[in-house]
Amino acid sequence: MATREDCVLKQVSVGLARCSGCGACASLCPEVFAMDPDTEKPRIIKDEVCEDEVRQAMAYCPEDCIELD
Ligand code: SF4
Repeated sequence: MATREDCVLKQVSVGLARCSGCGACASLCPEVFAMDPDTEKPRIIKDEVCEDEVRQAMAYCPEDCIELD
């Protein structure tokens, strides 16, 4: 697993089958998620992240479909 000085980098993914396309993840963590206007679901724009970078989006996601591996 890759590491950065201050954290362990993890792979972030979204379970799109459960995702409602609410856009909260892209609003809270725009450096990691961006809404795709065609699919109205989020795209991952930075797939290796510190947990800190996505914690807020994971906590807020109403469908609980953001995962870290
Ligand atoms: S917060 Fe969750 S449900 Fe909403 S768009 Fe992001 S991944 Fe989908």
